[in-house]
Amino acid sequence: MAGRGELRHKRRVVFKVGTSTLTHPNGSINLSRVDRLAMVLSDLANMGKEIVLVTSGAIGVGMGKLKIAERPSATAERQALAAVGQCELMQLYSKLFSEYGHVVAQILLTRDVVNSERPRANAANTFETLLKKGIVPIVNENDSVSTEELEIAGRNSSFGDNDTLSAIVAALVKADLLVILSDIDGLYDANPSENPGARLLSHVADITPDIAMAAGGSGSALGTGGMAAKIQAARIAFDSGIDMVLANGENPGAIYDIFDGLAVGTLFSRGPAR
Ligand code: ADP
Repeated sequence: MAGRGELRHKRRVVFKVGTSTLTHPNGSINLSRVDRLAMVLSDLANMGKEIVLVTSGAIGVGMGKLKIAERPSATAERQALAAVGQCELMQLYSKLFSEYGHVVAQILLTRDVVNSERPRANAANTFETLLKKGIVPIVNENDSVSTEELEIAGRNSSFGDNDTLSAIVAALVKADLLVILSDIDGLYDANPSENPGARLLSHVADITPDIAMAAGGSGSALGTGGMAAKIQAARIAFDSGIDMVLANGENPGAIYDIFDGLAVGTLFSRGPAR
């Protein structure tokens, strides 16, 4: 568990980006942001860090590709869009990362995979092998097969949101740090969209009832889990002994500041605030 100063030493890092970071408010892909993200993550890999990227955005990108303006309500329609969008999204990541000298790999997960021993071990081995080769695994939920509605053996097959997935992946790969990039600067002591005077919390040492209460739902039409999902991710990270930073994904260059120990976003760490 670390204070800010120790973040520079974190070697294996899982990043999560949400749809609101990857797309413009109209739903189209934000090319310059995805490009800068790929550049910064490639640069961190050049510094010797092992990078995993958990990305949302498949449905949004699929909508753009098929020129569909409104997110469909039917599950099968959304899953079809995710199938189209996932290819497109990976094509973009692959192109951008390769421009910066890095190879990416796609891993699509469902809850069943991480809940059952054998597939979980297989997935962990695959991650380990990719990371040892210096490849950047890019992870998403397998949206085309898992939904909240889909019950497999009486169990919900979905992670619900990629925030939870990113924390599960961080635990699976035994990451040193989880960085969740959102459309907001960090965790505030109250939902800022309802409380203009809300203050940004720089350090959270435990998920107390007050912290859980502060976290509300999503503020945007594109976000899914809202802050409650990020707190759930922080719980999983705490339980796994992994530090987590929640920061704004608007400016990917600020990722460097996290590793420089600057007061960016909210650090969730049991260590004392330093
Ligand atoms: P993303 O798609 O980037 O993951 P979400 O929309 O899922 O983002 O979650 C971030 C949103 O959560 C913020 O934009 C904000 O409106 C909302 N929110 C609710 N409670 C809080 C809080 N206590 N601190 C910060 N944001 C909060």
